[in-house]
Amino acid sequence: MRTLIRNGTIVTATDLYKGDVLVDGEKIAVIGTTLDGIADGVDKIIDASGKYVLPGGIDVHTHLDMPFGGTTSADDFESGTTAAAFGGTTSIVDFAIQYRGQTLHHAWETWAKKAEGKAVIDYGFHMIMTDLNDQTEAEMDALVRQGITSFKLFMAYPGVFMLDDASIFKALLRTGKNGGTICMHAENGGVIDVLVQRALAAGKTAPKYHALTRPARAEAEATHRAIALAEIADVPIYIVHLSAAEALEMVTEARDRGLPAYAETCPQYLFLSYDNYEEPGFDGAKYVMSPPLRQKATQDQLWRGLAFNDLQAISTDHCPFCMKEQKELGRSDFSKIPNGAPGIETRMSLVYDGGVRANRISLNRFVELTSTSPARIFGLFPRKGTIAPGSDADIVVFDPNRTTTLSARTLHMNVDYNPYEGRTVTGATDTVLSRGRLVIENGKFVGRAGSGSFIKRSVRT
Ligand SMILES: [Zn+2]
Repeated sequence: MRTLIRNGTIVTATDLYKGDVLVDGEKIAVIGTTLDGIADGVDKIIDASGKYVLPGGIDVHTHLDMPFGGTTSADDFESGTTAAAFGGTTSIVDFAIQYRGQTLHHAWETWAKKAEGKAVIDYGFHMIMTDLNDQTEAEMDALVRQGITSFKLFMAYPGVFMLDDASIFKALLRTGKNGGTICMHAENGGVIDVLVQRALAAGKTAPKYHALTRPARAEAEATHRAIALAEIADVPIYIVHLSAAEALEMVTEARDRGLPAYAETCPQYLFLSYDNYEEPGFDGAKYVMSPPLRQKATQDQLWRGLAFNDLQAISTDHCPFCMKEQKELGRSDFSKIPNGAPGIETRMSLVYDGGVRANRISLNRFVELTSTSPARIFGLFPRKGTIAPGSDADIVVFDPNRTTTLSARTLHMNVDYNPYEGRTVTGATDTVLSRGRLVIENGKFVGRAGSGSFIKRSVRT
């Protein structure tokens, strides 16, 4: 199968030019200012006049089919990756979870089964470790060799996911030897638990108390501690879903000292705020996620971090729970509201509209934050994350002028609300290729469940 994408504006993290892209099989074969001469010999021509031709989005933080708080996230690997494709994302890195007493290999097998036969785009896994002992530490090396090159640890959720500093430090040291990367959920779980218990004891049960018991300083403290532990271990660290300006200061300070500290933020922290928790009735539950939404003024600081490369990636932390029967579990106790919100489908349009169109970041930086930089950090580059000969033909034809209204009724995520309901965004995904196969064509799904493959990732370089 040979596909020619004609007359588009090709955008990478560094380049911007009018040209044609020839896809041969699963790979990008040729790029030229005009490939008209070979148009006769191709199977399919896609006209990209007036459109951007972007490397497919890479979302390195998703939770599909994930058990949490007595329920399971509402998107499985079929609905979740289909929604991702509609939104211009062609690769995800999801999280396999090792529960206490289990091997890492068992966790990988469990999550591999969830994805196989279902994913419509390519996927990799980070390994969440909740039990660090001599055996699982040794297993980390094997996993890195097998293409699971990053591990997520928690400084929050005591008794469920949280690891103590000694275990975190041992895991960091191990990645110094095996080349893996530690991803950290940085919130001080012990402090937060005390605040939660006190709030509940005082009869404070509404959704907004989820945010009020998770102060920005608890995130900043853990971010600082995580970076300090990585500095002592002399290894890089990646902070997931950074939400607070106080936490960003810690990353900025470390980077100014030349430390390999990396961090992502998510659209919800750029476009939503604490005010959403004050919505009437139980509606604040829609935004219950950890870390919580912050004060509106934080948004400007996060955009500044993105523009100046103190933040290197925008992922979604997509972890949807329906209001009905799921978020409702916490109607009388905010601590029982499943944590998470949908976002896998809306990332590219939101960031384009609120970032590029609003002159907060350049078009190149948009590509870098949503594709190239996560690809580099997580061992996918140059196979993915750019438009270049030899790279996978993961390509998005993006219409910078099409305006859509975000709504749960028209989006494809398997969830009964949308946190951006009614918001209009300009910039929309028209057509998506995943390793040369059409998945979305002019806004219609033409992909196939099971056509996505596990991506064996490399170690950081
Ligand atoms: Zn997460």
